[in-house]
Amino acid sequence: MANVAFIGLGQMGAPMACNLIKQGHALRVFDINPQVTEKLVRQGATGCNSAAEAAKDAEFVITMLPDGDLVREALFAPGGVCETLSPAALVIDMSTIHPLQTDRLIAQMREKGFSMMDVPVGRTSDHAIAGTLLLLAGGTQEQVERATPVLMAMGAELINAGGPGRGIRVKLINNYMSIALNALSAEAAVLCEALDLSFDVALKVMSGTPAGRGHFTTTWPNKILKGDLSPAFMIDLAHKDLGIALDVANQLHVPMPLGAASREVYNQARAAGRGRQDWTAILEQVRASAGLPEKSNQ
Ligand code: NAD
Repeated sequence: MANVAFIGLGQMGAPMACNLIKQGHALRVFDINPQVTEKLVRQGATGCNSAAEAAKDAEFVITMLPDGDLVREALFAPGGVCETLSPAALVIDMSTIHPLQTDRLIAQMREKGFSMMDVPVGRTSDHAIAGTLLLLAGGTQEQVERATPVLMAMGAELINAGGPGRGIRVKLINNYMSIALNALSAEAAVLCEALDLSFDVALKVMSGTPAGRGHFTTTWPNKILKGDLSPAFMIDLAHKDLGIALDVANQLHVPMPLGAASREVYNQARAAGRGRQDWTAILEQVRASAGLPEKSNQ
């Protein structure tokens, strides 16, 4: 069992620290809010008055803070982790922060002779309580192996993202997609309501289709990811169907900004001569817009 310092005991950090205690790790905790620190002390942690005090004698220092500036402050400001940190310790930032800030923090820690990795988490505070978070580990192979027993006290699944800074990058992609999809799903739900359709019926249909299940695991694997653009469902037809939905929404005064933007992407694909390609060729279209070369067979 390890000596762990835990800094940032909010919605996520408090239950994560609790799970570490339950697994038998010795916890020294710090939060700028003394009330939350006190709660953790009642669970068996040692409360500290600064990040530096928490990091003393720690083998692992975990930060779970709202943003990158606060992580930098917890590490480098007076009273911060670096004042007492042992060069043998491993700092694990589990916050969601800007990846370039992650790179800078890892580099600055390295310059001071300290080891740091990024392990942001997927899922919610309910999963933090249950100890079933998705752990997205960025770090060297040695760091990932060393941290795994401690990390698995907080999560159900650990994915090695492939190197320092890559945990936070894959988290960024995951959040981008799920956050944007949330807004797109809301557009569809509002159109459903405007059409007087039961949401339960829509739910039943969508939970078995790419609309509800997502394209990465449904339409893409056998087509675009294999480089096969022969049409199972053509871009021209997808463009037509999206147009009908937008037209209906327009008549019902339902604004569909994301759907309208998507139609422009299909427009671009058709203008680029992809109308008779499979709809998953939209990936090639977006790659082309980003100046990337074609990957698939025509
Ligand atoms: P929160 O605001 O509930 O908790 C942050 C805690 O950090 C607070 O208790 C605050 O007092 C403390 N704090 C702030 N500055 C500090 C400092 N300098 N030193 C010590 N403690 C300090 O936030 P949260 O929901 O626990 O989120 C933490 C991180 O996890 C964020 O980066 C968030 O994006 C990420 N995240 C959140 C969720 C979620 O569902 N809430 C899910 C995945 C990831």
